[in-house]
Amino acid sequence: MVFHLDWDGHVHTGFCPHGSGEPSRMYIERAIELGFRKISLIEHFPLPPDLPQPPTLLPVTMEMDKVAPYLEDSLALRDEFSGQIDVLVGFEWDFLPDFTDWTRGQMDRFGPRVQDGILSIHFLKGMIIDEAAEIFMCQVLPKLGGTLEGGYREYYRTLMMLVRADLGEFKPRRIGHLNLIRRFQKIYPAPGEFRDELTEIVREASSRGMQLDMNMSGIRRKYNGEPYVPEWLIRKIASGELQFDCVFGSDAHRSHEVGLGLVEAKGMLGVGRY
Ligand SMILES: [Zn+2]
Ligand SMILES: [Zn+2]
Repeated sequence: MVFHLDWDGHVHTGFCPHGSGEPSRMYIERAIELGFRKISLIEHFPLPPDLPQPPTLLPVTMEMDKVAPYLEDSLALRDEFSGQIDVLVGFEWDFLPDFTDWTRGQMDRFGPRVQDGILSIHFLKGMIIDEAAEIFMCQVLPKLGGTLEGGYREYYRTLMMLVRADLGEFKPRRIGHLNLIRRFQKIYPAPGEFRDELTEIVREASSRGMQLDMNMSGIRRKYNGEPYVPEWLIRKIASGELQFDCVFGSDAHRSHEVGLGLVEAKGMLGVGRY
């Protein structure tokens, strides 16, 4: 097993429509200040045009006409900061089981220009699962059988589909925030830990050479309060019982959030606090 803790592998940018709007360089400068050796600029790739417009409060991804400027800006920063920090550029892709052809086409199109990527589930049955507790309970769950149990099962089923999906040569290696379905678990308690399902997903992903986004942003969300990768799973990986490559991810949407959660990640691994 490998834990990459000198790399913030999940950082949003000035192109994020629900971020702070600060220029991307501020995120990089913060990462340098904190002593990171590597940073991945990972912006939300646009959703398929045929996806029925999901009811969200803020735009979830950048627009398609921003993709080229995003790449241009980020790749210029990659050059500018080389020698100080290794800047990888890529996208956070939404895994949408009904749109894999479209997604594969876009990955083929932009894949050759990027160095990194994350594949995440933010939508189930066309509904966003992590925006607001009320939306999750009143609008999302009814579409997933009406119970938390049903919703969680659908999420983990979709996660296995993500791992197995044929998205071509440029399929991103890293699975984003594994337990995002637990986003509101403090007010709507999770119906279980789903250890068997998660263990199976991790084994399968590992055998395919994938990586895990050791995403710590859940701990700063009031209704989540825990890392998106559960501690029991980290312990299994740390002990060698499960083999998996884990990359720390702050999921920063503003520059001061870069590196947040690293102390807790190190604490989980017993690396010591500093
Ligand atoms: Zn975001
Ligand atoms: Zn995400």
